[in-house]
Amino acid sequence: MSKKILILAGDGIGPEIVAEAIKVLEAVRAPFGLDLTLDEALVGGAAYDASGHPLPEETLAAARAADAVLLGAVGGPKWEPLPIAVRPEKGLLGLRAGLGLFANLRPAILCPQLADASSLKPELVAGLDILIVRELTGGIYFGEPRGVTRLESGERRGVNTLVYTESEIRRICRVAFDVARQRNKRVCSVDKANVLECTELWREVATEVGRDYPDVALSHMYVDNAAMQLVRAPKQFDVMVTTNMFGDILSDAAAMLTGSIGMLPSASLNAEGQGMYEPIHGSAPDIAGKGIANPLATILSVAMMLRYSLHEAAAAQAIEDAVSRVLDQGLRTGDIMSPGMRQVGTVEMGDAVVAALASAG
Ligand code: NAD
Repeated sequence: MSKKILILAGDGIGPEIVAEAIKVLEAVRAPFGLDLTLDEALVGGAAYDASGHPLPEETLAAARAADAVLLGAVGGPKWEPLPIAVRPEKGLLGLRAGLGLFANLRPAILCPQLADASSLKPELVAGLDILIVRELTGGIYFGEPRGVTRLESGERRGVNTLVYTESEIRRICRVAFDVARQRNKRVCSVDKANVLECTELWREVATEVGRDYPDVALSHMYVDNAAMQLVRAPKQFDVMVTTNMFGDILSDAAAMLTGSIGMLPSASLNAEGQGMYEPIHGSAPDIAGKGIANPLATILSVAMMLRYSLHEAAAAQAIEDAVSRVLDQGLRTGDIMSPGMRQVGTVEMGDAVVAALASAG
């Protein structure tokens, strides 16, 4: 049966980078016998301009009906004066909530060719390949009670609540163990079980889930140690699974180990395996329309989509290999440029990946 992909290009550099990603998806369609139907819809500022809302009902309905969503980026200075309820970023949050995307997968991969881009010594990061699985719809960002109140003394008091149910922990841990099976079969569960009862429960449930995956090695680490280990010896990790807030912080730190925001894809999955795939960077309004944005994070998001929602691992691998070969050829967009390499624009980079796929034929 044909798999439905909804394309949401969004704002800023979104349409430029998504166009290259579609080219690459088209290039693997025939060789891997993929039966795909591609649809497009509006989201973010583009949707607001057309309909007065950053997530029109027809876009959410199309996303719900799709097997996977490919998103460029949303937002930009043009829409900053708008009320928060209709800002482009609300479109993104609405999609996450509307699709029930509770699992955020953020790889931090550093192609050996780009090891110099990291702030760490090249030998610490060359070949880095970590996947952080972050819980996305629970924890302290959503827990009740929350808010700022005034005490009788007149002093203000701020409250947020860290709360997880067993089932919320179990389902995110299952995602982590399932993806670890497709990788190096190691999961590190990150918590603060020595201080926070809620994450003591997290550790217990992670251990219980681990019993169903005897082929995957489970370890536990306190979040402060995990932060330290990420910058001390990041290659020790394979899959890390953690709470919403810890994952928010650790995944940004891990991304920066690679030194190249234009290279990193991400996936957000729901219980049915439906997913939204997007680069981790934003709409880069400073370079929008100039034809210089790096499309590789979006192209690698297509590879994640093929792997995790469409179960086409061979096509995903082919795209990742093609990106690696293009880097081997010395082609670089401005954000990853280094001396001796050849600087190319967005379209030329996309074309080079397509050519590398064809030559691998
Ligand atoms: P940004 O990621 O858009 O840009 C940060 C810097 O990285 C800029 O200098 C930009 O030129 C550069 N950069 C980003 N992607 C690049 C690429 N593919 N190739 C080359 N250079 C790239 O972050 P920002 O400037 O903080 O935010 C800009 C807008 O994007 C804001 O409106 C913000 O709300 C929005 N945003 C959207 C998302 C999303 O759609 N998921 C995520 C983050 C920010």
